[in-house]
Amino acid sequence: MKERLALVVLAVIVIIALVWLYAYKLTPEPNAVSPDNSSAGSRAASIENPSRITKKTFGLYVTPSNSPVSPEKFTGYHTGVDFETTPDEANIDIPVPAICEGTLLLKKYATGYGGVAVQSCMLYGQPVTIIYGHLELASIMPGIGQQLKKGETIGILGKGYSTETDGERKHLHLGIHKGLVINILGYVQKQPELSGWLDPMQFLK
Ligand SMILES: [Zn+2]
Repeated sequence: MKERLALVVLAVIVIIALVWLYAYKLTPEPNAVSPDNSSAGSRAASIENPSRITKKTFGLYVTPSNSPVSPEKFTGYHTGVDFETTPDEANIDIPVPAICEGTLLLKKYATGYGGVAVQSCMLYGQPVTIIYGHLELASIMPGIGQQLKKGETIGILGKGYSTETDGERKHLHLGIHKGLVINILGYVQKQPELSGWLDPMQFLK
């Protein structure tokens, strides 16, 4: 009887030891590199990344009654692309990088945009101007005439529904206008006028 009890105790000890060893092996070491990329994955894409949600695509005809955003104060064909922010980006600085290399031509406050910056670039061998709309004007550090490298920060997005965005949601309006003439119109009233503009998505792909 005593031998049997000893065997049972031994068996229990062996089982506990095996379970412990198994659990220990499955527990990753504290310094082990996590195989998932949760830290990188949770970092939001750059604001001009094509993977961003776009509520208004290039050429979309918008009216206050059909607009994907509300309230809408514009009517016309959208001359650029809007890149949306997520709710958790509402109160953090979202940098807006130059999408190409070129000179800063303009930074000012404009109705419909709040802060807006215009940069000249060469695209497919042709001069264009890039319109960056809804930036916080005071955050635009480069001076007029300053050469910007691709990826260099122009400024940060203006706070949503404030004067920094002229009351618009927090987002980037990105337009590419052909030629060197500065034209910051966000909408044109006739579809053929869109030919003066390029779809930024074609360039950012
Ligand atoms: Zn827009």
